[in-house]
Amino acid sequence: MEQFLKELGKKADEKQTENKKFFTKLKKKVPKNLDYIMQELHEEEFKKTDCLECANCCKTTGPLFTNADVERIAKHFRQKPQKFIENYLRVDEDNDYVLQQVPCAFLGADNYCSIYDVRPKACREFPHTDRKKFQQISNLTMKNVAICPAAYNIVEEMKKRIK
Ligand code: SF4
Ligand code: SF4
Repeated sequence: MEQFLKELGKKADEKQTENKKFFTKLKKKVPKNLDYIMQELHEEEFKKTDCLECANCCKTTGPLFTNADVERIAKHFRQKPQKFIENYLRVDEDNDYVLQQVPCAFLGADNYCSIYDVRPKACREFPHTDRKKFQQISNLTMKNVAICPAAYNIVEEMKKRIK
């Protein structure tokens, strides 16, 4: 995993043109069973990839925090939402709450998330490869393949499976 993560940025760069072409074609002609294919590819990939050996998303990007996330996590810490925001979050250029710094403050040295049960929705859903109408998030996915080895592998499998 460590070696794969080291090379991931370069590998994703090399695939950029190919991926862009693939997703443009996919959006023009969406397979009827795309939701089913994605579910299958996602499950197959996460049988092989252990997020606890990786945590690259928590180390390098971090999620957006919705208001519901802020309220739930602040409650977990018995803090006022405003206090939680002051302690951990900032507002980014799109006006969203994001982490003040990465790696995420809630990530342990063992790659466990210390707020796992109440973690942000975006953390639960990342890398979004099992979501419906996957073609709608192709721009985001093209960024995610440079961060997430599972997303990278899933896109590579998609290209083999969907001609
Ligand atoms: S979701 Fe992707 S980047 Fe995050 S820990 Fe799992 S494999 Fe790594
Ligand atoms: S809240 Fe947890 S899952 Fe989300 S980025 Fe931080 S450590 Fe990772």
